[in-house]
Amino acid sequence: MPVARILFPLPLPEPFDYLIPDGMTVEAGSYVRAPLGQYERTGLVWELVDTPPERELKAIESVYPTPPMPETMRRFIEFCARYNVAGPGQVLGMALRARGGLSPSPTQTVYQATGHRTNRMTAAREKVLAATAELGSGSATDLARAAGVSSSVVKGLVEAGSLKADIRATDLPYPAPDPHRQGPDLTPEQSAAAKSLRAAVKAGGYAPFLLDGITGSGKTEVYFEAISETLAKDPTAQILVLLPEIALTQAVFERFEARFGAGPAPWHSSLSDQQRRRTWREVAHGRARIVTGARSALFLPFSNLKLIIVDEEHDSSFKQEDGVRYHARDMAVMRAKLEEAAIILASATPALETVVNAESGRYQRLKLSARPGAARLPDMHLVDLRANTPETGNWLSPVLSRGLVATHAAGEQSLLFLNRRGYAPLVICKACGERLKSPGTESWLTEHRYSNRLICHLTGWSMPKPDHCPKCGAKDSLMGVGPGVERVAEEVRVLLPKATVEIFSSDTALGGEATRGIVERMAGGEVDVLVGTQIVAKGHNFPNLTLVGVVDADSGLQGGDLRAGERTYQLLSQVAGRAGRADRPGKALIQTYQPNNPAMQALAAGDRDGFLKIERDVREELSLPPFGRMAALVMSATDPAMAKEIGLIAGKAAPHGEGVTVYGPAPAPISILRGRHRLRFLITAPRDVDLSAYMAAWLRALKLPSAARVAVDIDPYSFL
Ligand code: ADP
Repeated sequence: MPVARILFPLPLPEPFDYLIPDGMTVEAGSYVRAPLGQYERTGLVWELVDTPPERELKAIESVYPTPPMPETMRRFIEFCARYNVAGPGQVLGMALRARGGLSPSPTQTVYQATGHRTNRMTAAREKVLAATAELGSGSATDLARAAGVSSSVVKGLVEAGSLKADIRATDLPYPAPDPHRQGPDLTPEQSAAAKSLRAAVKAGGYAPFLLDGITGSGKTEVYFEAISETLAKDPTAQILVLLPEIALTQAVFERFEARFGAGPAPWHSSLSDQQRRRTWREVAHGRARIVTGARSALFLPFSNLKLIIVDEEHDSSFKQEDGVRYHARDMAVMRAKLEEAAIILASATPALETVVNAESGRYQRLKLSARPGAARLPDMHLVDLRANTPETGNWLSPVLSRGLVATHAAGEQSLLFLNRRGYAPLVICKACGERLKSPGTESWLTEHRYSNRLICHLTGWSMPKPDHCPKCGAKDSLMGVGPGVERVAEEVRVLLPKATVEIFSSDTALGGEATRGIVERMAGGEVDVLVGTQIVAKGHNFPNLTLVGVVDADSGLQGGDLRAGERTYQLLSQVAGRAGRADRPGKALIQTYQPNNPAMQALAAGDRDGFLKIERDVREELSLPPFGRMAALVMSATDPAMAKEIGLIAGKAAPHGEGVTVYGPAPAPISILRGRHRLRFLITAPRDVDLSAYMAAWLRALKLPSAARVAVDIDPYSFL
């Protein structure tokens, strides 16, 4: 009689043993309900073992009618937990984000027309029949809402025999994509790349690619070819397309729909519970063929995953910074290996890690060096702010101002990029010099004029802008310092009083609809100058946009973490790439106080590979990633004395590791966050050291007071 070892989606050290009641069929991977402590919980049969139980075991309660999680996915969870120094239960938790998907879809009553016209028609009834004709069918609420009447009118039509009820699943399957639809005629360079991808998919097995193409060179069209081959080759094959969260817009959905005749199944943080459980269920049952999602989509239980695409693979949003800290691009490569699938990492500015993997032959590199048709990359110019200083209180240099005026006069559009939301990133009191901070957090408050609030961008805490300084009580003494997008927009409105100026940031575009509104107005030429944060950098295509102005190119270089130059280069070349997409040449003006910085020089010269070579040499010289390994240990406590104490304890407990160097503890740059005092250790090691094992050993050796919190970050991207 085998025993089922059940893993629960909780931070527990290991699976627990359970009996399988007579007549119940379970296998490794089955999703079950079982008693744990006082509650019955959802868990996963991790494995079946034959060892006779040493003590009395509880029994499994029930099994969900869901296909068991495949072996490859369980191995992936195991790998992810080990590599990122987390419990397998915590990783399983990420795979079980939509418990509703484990059960069959709920049902609802929908109504459709019978064709019978009652002779007691009213205006309200006519409206309902018209709405039914348009929608085909719908719930009483949907039909009533569409007709603008109360749902009793729908009921009346049912009684009169004009509508009939039908029971239907609430969550419908996704329509199947069509692999045989034709894309555009590819350029020779695109064809060559597509051919390699199609061949790899046809051959099957693990095949990693770097699709390295300038913005607008057709990377999407090329990976669509790989998707089409995957769909055609195997009628059950599934495809996962990972995108930065910010890029998961309606426009992306429509592009897939146009190419494959059906939109993909979506997965991202703003889905409703119903959309979430629908996607999860359809993926688990193998019916969803194409999924587009943010990083967490990597933990969906695909039954036959054959192709993964990581678009904008360099994007920092693929790194999860809380809970289980992982890098979705790196984990995606591992998942592809386990699934024996093809994987395409696509970018115009690939991460140095990825480039090094391509150079060493671990990834096959496919290059796209030109935009199809007339589209050209914009001309890049550095504006040296030391010589071209904006007037006091302004942020646009005379050169950029003239560019905006000329572009507007020519009937073309401009985009100004500043990666700072709100009006001013810092608020100080003119009377006492106080810099306003968020309570319990070492972070300045940002002034937002639209909402007239002061907001902490780190924690989301906010308050209405006070009339008096909270410190000294002086009236009307608070002053915003430095520029945010709202302030730059104000400056443009003075410069171009007749122009339509809009702001595009996560404050003005909350949710898909608002984003679509701004993007459509810009694409349709209704906006003359768009002032945006990094939300504008991703994938939008504005044919009449010819000038891109970068207001403060240096902002990302501050803080000096190891990827500051690389990230600045990536972001700015992506922003500049928005200009000149159609047949009009574009121009980018990049305002900087550091025109000699290698990232700025490379941008101006369009010399990405030269820049990467310098970065690469520096990192190799200093044994920084990807030439050496790095991890962080972040600790915190509410009491400053205890924070100091746990730092000392942890420092003493650090095991000896060959080649491993432990730096710290040092106060974290954000030294107080939500009332907790934070410390960091930085750990480096040569490439061949298993730093995950080292960190796990360290954690095991740590005996800390329960109020202390500890987090391990393997391959850290944030050093705050
Ligand atoms: P990327 O993903 O590299 O930024 P896209 O695939 O989005 O590039 O292509 C940029 C634009 O050019 C899109 O509108 C796309 O439809 C168009 N395009 C790309 N390749 C072709 C082609 N061979 N023929 C026609 N249009 C193309």
